[in-house]
Amino acid sequence: MTDASLPPAVSQTMPPASALVDRFGRVHTDLRLSVTDRCTLRCTYCMPLDATFRPREELLTDDECIRVATVAARLGVRSIRVTGGEPLLRPGLAGLVARLVALPGMEEVALTTNGLLLAQQAEGLFAAGLSRLNVSLDALSEEVFERVARAGGLERVLAGLAEAKRIGFRAIRINAVSIRGLTESEIVPLASFCRREGFHLRFIEFMPLDADSTWSNEKVLSGAEVREILEREVGAVLPRPRTDPSQPAVDFDFADGAGSVGFIDPVSAPFCGQCDRLRLTADGQLRNCLFSTVEWDARGLLRRGGAPLDIDGALATMLRDCVQAKHAAHGIGAADFHKPQRAMYQIGG
Ligand code: SAM
Ligand code: SF4
Repeated sequence: MTDASLPPAVSQTMPPASALVDRFGRVHTDLRLSVTDRCTLRCTYCMPLDATFRPREELLTDDECIRVATVAARLGVRSIRVTGGEPLLRPGLAGLVARLVALPGMEEVALTTNGLLLAQQAEGLFAAGLSRLNVSLDALSEEVFERVARAGGLERVLAGLAEAKRIGFRAIRINAVSIRGLTESEIVPLASFCRREGFHLRFIEFMPLDADSTWSNEKVLSGAEVREILEREVGAVLPRPRTDPSQPAVDFDFADGAGSVGFIDPVSAPFCGQCDRLRLTADGQLRNCLFSTVEWDARGLLRRGGAPLDIDGALATMLRDCVQAKHAAHGIGAADFHKPQRAMYQIGG
């Protein structure tokens, strides 16, 4: 863990008294909302082949998601990223997005998807007011796509991207996980494709959140290594000035003016010091970190029977408790690091 990964001792600006501020001064303004644990793919770095899923009645309903998001927005959450599992598998997703967009104080509602169902749903999501679209695409060769995803579907992802662009989504991001020995051949084709199509490409380091526990430090193809390959085989890149320090990606523009690329390096260059994120799993558990080993049971609170209770007040207290308990950093690589019990698809990336 480098010093740069540690949070500053005090926050730089004075947050409002109601804000979700942790012990290290980090102000939490972003909520990752997982809407399902189901998926159309079985990516090696995320899900097991024989995944089992929560019964539907254990997942938060739209009303329950909105209730937690409303309280979070009152406490200063300004952006929500809808994720999963594969969020486009959730029935009526556009309706939920429209309700999130309409929350007082909400500035951005984004979605991360594997893109397989995007061609059918892009129009509805655009009309619902979705501000931003991230599509995960690790490979442009069918063989590598299928080795990573353990299912087919590349053509459908490409069709979904084309449709999203046609409908009017701007600044579409492509997320590509880099794994040593698996995805090197895809780096240059992905860069060429994104430069041509006007998509912003971001490489993400492989994190120890896979259900199969195959992660090892040796498999982490670092952002620096990917950048070196790009500079050697595609062209020079120039750093973009950072406008939002809480953004995990370090972005670059290709020096020839055609396109951009970003690197999310949670393993080789942790950005915990600037983390502003909270997470709500599809089954209603609040988490303060991907690597958290503790959860707060928002669903239990929402469905609590018995004596009347100020549920919104109790949710606000729960959100604050969750933020207060946040650790300084995720600790990957530290001697006492423990992989969380849940894999990525059960948390929401
Ligand atoms: N199914 C959607 C998708 O794939 O975009 C949304 C959920 S997925 C869990 C969100 C993001 O997490 C994807 O970009 C995926 O590539 C990334 N991801 C999953 N497991 C990962 C891991 N072990 N390390 C790094 N990124 C991971
Ligand atoms: Fe599904 Fe996304 Fe996980 Fe791949 S990364 S298995 S698409 S949830």
